[in-house]
Amino acid sequence: MNANIKVQTILKGKQRILAVVAHPDDFEDYFSGTMLIAIEKGWIKPENINLLIVTDGSNGSRGTIVDPEVLKKLRHEEQMKALDHVGIPRENCHFLDFKDGYVHNNENQLTERISYFIRKLKPDLLLTHNGFEAIIERQSGMYYIHKDHRVVGQAALDAAYPYSRDLLFFPEHHKEGLEGHFLLEVLIAETQYPNVKVDITKKMPEKIALLKNFMSQIESDDWLYKYFKDTTGEGDRYLESYKFVKIII
Ligand SMILES: [Zn+2]
Repeated sequence: MNANIKVQTILKGKQRILAVVAHPDDFEDYFSGTMLIAIEKGWIKPENINLLIVTDGSNGSRGTIVDPEVLKKLRHEEQMKALDHVGIPRENCHFLDFKDGYVHNNENQLTERISYFIRKLKPDLLLTHNGFEAIIERQSGMYYIHKDHRVVGQAALDAAYPYSRDLLFFPEHHKEGLEGHFLLEVLIAETQYPNVKVDITKKMPEKIALLKNFMSQIESDDWLYKYFKDTTGEGDRYLESYKFVKIII
């Protein structure tokens, strides 16, 4: 296996990137350093990035006195401010508003929603979570991956193939005028076995600034730096690492 694919060979010239993530702030947590580098280098344009955010974020708090409806609204607003920061148009962000923490893919309902947006937006690259590894090892220990991330990661891959390609799945989409779309390339975050590693050390101040839009989720700059060093760092470097997958038929 090629364990060191250069990220520019994947990103250069991509016309439509779709990030399918579980929560508001996941795009920033897992992909923002890489996207900021790609935008700065001119490999991609921010207006070519779309987000599909599956849950409403209404349970993403460690306290109990927070009203889920208030938190949902706050997290939508936080997400929009973060997109402004990167230059991604607000209309490129789509909320599915499944209930935070309770995402299932019963009767392929989630796959249907993701397939709908794949058919509509016709991305040439999908960014998503890892739906296939529950525990991954990092330099500071073993980490358990959030259930919503695993459910969304699996549904997103299934939506990419075969559901969004084959028109007999979810025929109501075709009646709406949508065509099948075959999405070939996927970058998966949160993996024990990355084949793409992006050194984002220089972009860390910008990534931290971006994440500070999500005031409901973070504690301090130091906490964020430590979190990223522990979970995705290597030595003194801050990385975003991915498994790059091509879908073969
Ligand atoms: Zn998340």
